[in-house]
Amino acid sequence: METLHLGLDDTDSPYGGCTTHAAWRILRELDCDPPEPPSLVRLNPTVPWKTRGNGALALRLRVEDAEGAFEETVSVIEGLRRPGSDTGIVGCREDPRDEEWAEGLYRKGVTSVLERKDVAPLIGNTSMVESFGGGRGLLGASAALAWSPGDSTYELLAYRDGAREVDDASIRDAAAVKGVWDTLDPDGSPVCVPSTPCPVLLGLRGDSEEAVLEAWSRVKTDSVEGFCVFRTNQGTDDHVVNGSMGSLKPRRSYRVTGTVSGPPRTIEGGHVFFNLEGPGGAVDCAAYEPTKGFRDVVRGLREGDRLTVYGSYRESGGGTVNLERLEVLSLNRSELVNPTCPGCGRSMESAGRNQGYRCRRCGTRADSKTELKVKRELEEGFHEVPPSARRHLSKPLRRF
Ligand code: ATP
Repeated sequence: METLHLGLDDTDSPYGGCTTHAAWRILRELDCDPPEPPSLVRLNPTVPWKTRGNGALALRLRVEDAEGAFEETVSVIEGLRRPGSDTGIVGCREDPRDEEWAEGLYRKGVTSVLERKDVAPLIGNTSMVESFGGGRGLLGASAALAWSPGDSTYELLAYRDGAREVDDASIRDAAAVKGVWDTLDPDGSPVCVPSTPCPVLLGLRGDSEEAVLEAWSRVKTDSVEGFCVFRTNQGTDDHVVNGSMGSLKPRRSYRVTGTVSGPPRTIEGGHVFFNLEGPGGAVDCAAYEPTKGFRDVVRGLREGDRLTVYGSYRESGGGTVNLERLEVLSLNRSELVNPTCPGCGRSMESAGRNQGYRCRRCGTRADSKTELKVKRELEEGFHEVPPSARRHLSKPLRRF
């Protein structure tokens, strides 16, 4: 027996298909004995080539003949891949995770933009390489093979046989399993059942294989083709790097610290923006409409609040961070107002530039503004977008 390490990416299109489904079919159709769960590796969520969640797959198979199993894999994928997809399939006998370039390849794939030269050490050293369309999928397939599950989570994906019919109450039962998360939104609506035309019936995320299997045992549905548990880098924040204001680059996701420099503003469509200033410059931060109640957190910010924000950066509009989470480091709890006249009890007015304040009625003078304590509803600490608006890679607060 020998081990075949198999990387797979880009088999679907917006109109159907899903690479996790293709991976599950390979596991089902090949005579193999996987020594570990398949890896579902989410890569840089900002790349423009993704269909949805930028997921790539790595499978480890125990087979009699690696070359033969690779050929079988290619024919399964040929039957499943969607026209127009840039499918990439890579196989190798040696485990790429043992190579010194592996960590760098994965990190670049999850945080930045890969080029063909980045995957040359892998696909240049194996005869088991197949691609369709433009073959862009070879980039993701190689990065998935390079991922060593350190910090990792699990997702059970069930595939549908026909319509998506899942009993809502049973989803709430599943969501109650300890160690299972992001199944429901705060308002109780299920977020684990997609509405796209893909074969996924539902996905259950959790800290362990046992937790997601227990949750699955509680789900009531009649439309199941099958299911598979994947080990994933979802919920790890692996896509986030430290950034500093003024040197943020598009197609990257950052953790940036700064001070709110003006009141939050809500624009048409319900999107909320505020400006964050730091030593090297300033950036707009956005909480878009789908982030629902998280926008109330953002609306509760005031000039002078110190924050660390997390999110992907876009150059449009002069540079915007699309918020996934924020940490309030300190709240500005004071406000400077014109002094009150001790005699008349009325608010004083400016007496002119650098001349302090004066009561219009009795002429009493004061040198400076008065500091008032402001009551803040917002709390210091972390605030996150709801599960329905969360990126796959984004770390839910319950994992902190
Ligand atoms: P699904 O998750 O529904 O299967 P998807 O959202 O994963 O679809 P793909 O169809 O896999 O999207 O398309 C993503 C494409 O982008 C793939 O060809 C992949 O190789 C490529 N890609 C992924 N990450 C990077 C990256 N960091 N740099 C360059 N290309 C990338």
